[in-house]
Amino acid sequence: MTHIAVLGSTNMDLVAYVAKAPQRGETVTGREFRTLPGGKGANQAVAAARAGADAVSMIGAVGADAFGTQLRTALDHSGVDTDLLRTVDTAATGTAHIVVDDEGGNAIVVIPGANATLTALAPGDEGLITSADTLLLQLEIPVEGVLAAAQAARRHGVRTILTPAPAQPLPPELLAATDLLVPNEHEAATLTGLTDPRSAARSLLSQVPEVVVTLGARGSLYAARGAEPVMVEAPHVTAVDTTGAGDTFVGTLAVALAEGGSVPEALAWASSAAALSVQRPGASASMPYRSEIDTQTN
Ligand code: ADP
Repeated sequence: MTHIAVLGSTNMDLVAYVAKAPQRGETVTGREFRTLPGGKGANQAVAAARAGADAVSMIGAVGADAFGTQLRTALDHSGVDTDLLRTVDTAATGTAHIVVDDEGGNAIVVIPGANATLTALAPGDEGLITSADTLLLQLEIPVEGVLAAAQAARRHGVRTILTPAPAQPLPPELLAATDLLVPNEHEAATLTGLTDPRSAARSLLSQVPEVVVTLGARGSLYAARGAEPVMVEAPHVTAVDTTGAGDTFVGTLAVALAEGGSVPEALAWASSAAALSVQRPGASASMPYRSEIDTQTN
């Protein structure tokens, strides 16, 4: 029985597709508009559910509005338990306002809304975390909330996996309560001031026992205390949309590790899943199911 708990953000992504993004003061006519479920927390929960975790629970917050209802329904349909996804009266559901241009470049404004209310654990949260094998954390909610959850997990021997995104300096207590840190290259550089991923990973090992630095199409770099870093190649594929690649990677990795897989097996599986996701549009919509990941890996 693998149970993954996630504490993090739930957003509605409001995406405008345009030939060229407008400059300040300019109005342009776009081609298409889509609303897509997002938020790094919800994305990682969907990835873990599709990868075949027996249970995935989402701790988060949405507003008492239509987006909140839609996001809850989307998570329910993905098989994610939303009993501890709160509906708050004090803020709107979080939104990300995204302009994607024809060259695939994007500009994004995130309004945290209800996500910003997650500053502490609520009744029931610690009990849920205690019952899980693994707790997935990211930084799209207040860091005080992330820290409280990580420390609760640590008290009960639950593995914590932290994605330090968006990139920002972290309190040392949070890293001290983290078992596995999964930054991308940019986040690793922000945390350490080192642009070389190997050097950054080595430096992070003074604060966390295990690190995976994700390197986009180049794959990922795994480092643990007392061993040489190991490079994991990504499958060569044609990427059409890399949104959510990192969340697919982490959600899948968590399931493989919770099932008792070895680190090399888990990394290979996560790399297959992320490579599948970049070949399809959307963030959670592009995430592969377990059977697809298995086919790709074997
Ligand atoms: P993030 O999405 O958090 O910025 P990355 O861009 O590093 O993270 O991607 C996470 C993982 O997704 C990579 O380690 C890799 O396994 C996979 N990935 C990302 N882009 C590609 C790609 N173009 N081809 C194959 N795999 C990819």
